Amino acid sequence: MTPPLLRVDNLHVQFSTRDGIVRAVNGMTFDLNEGETIAILGESGSGKSVTAQAIMGILDPEVASIPSGSITFRGEELVGLSERKHRKLRGTDIAMIFQDALSALNPVICVGDQVAEMFRVHAGASRKSAKQQAIEVMGHVGIPAAAQRYGDYPHQFSGGMRQRIMIAMMIALKPAVLIADEPTTALDVTVQAQIMDLLKELQRETGTGLILITHDLGVVASVAERIVVMYSGRVMEQGDVDAMYAHPANPYTIGLL
Ligand code: ADP
Ligand code: MG
Repeated sequence: MTPPLLRVDNLHVQFSTRDGIVRAVNGMTFDLNEGETIAILGESGSGKSVTAQAIMGILDPEVASIPSGSITFRGEELVGLSERKHRKLRGTDIAMIFQDALSALNPVICVGDQVAEMFRVHAGASRKSAKQQAIEVMGHVGIPAAAQRYGDYPHQFSGGMRQRIMIAMMIALKPAVLIADEPTTALDVTVQAQIMDLLKELQRETGTGLILITHDLGVVASVAERIVVMYSGRVMEQGDVDAMYAHPANPYTIGLL
């Protein structure tokens, strides 16, 4: 049997802090298949972002550790993978749209070049073609006058516009797994819908498995096939969206819905 695209199995993540050990993730388990969208839902502090960081291999090794559990990508174990190998995966196979776009963008490189770089490095496009494709995808994510704004720097963009630039960069990568951590929280409803359409379009085109971390139940119902409900670093309930909306089994889920 072929392994799932991504499997998270009994994952534990903890932080050593001055006040002791913080157990942020306590046995997270889910599978993601090709072309599938799952939503991870849970209140603030329930371990959603830390789970995403563990999958990406971007936990701070100074403070974070994974005492047990497994994360496999196409059957390959990611827990304990060398930083060099993890970086390679991050480039092409697993990508993430962060909550905070400012920290993900380089302040001294214009936004257009940052998008174009994705096409150059990961798709091997020529400089000219990369620029053209960058302008096109910037237009797609709703940046008006994309060609004129190509040379702007991140600080010249609003929070929402920076978010769109980061989304454009990740769409350019066409990753096998895309984790979107509350990607549209800072955006207005119309743009949110546009972005979700784009992500779905990417998924139809490339079979990307999408992990959508969100509070927005409207978004969940319209794009996800499955919901994983998290509470205190654990899965409270998971299942098909329709079934869970119709008959949530867990009191916590009922409260959330
Ligand atoms: P959310 O579900 O809101 O995304 P997080 O995954 O960011 O929650 O956080 C889960 C828990 O882990 C929280 O209690 C948070 O305080 C803790 N945590 C996250 N990052 C760190 C860190 N660098 N050091 C210590 N604790 C952390
Ligand atoms: Mg978070």
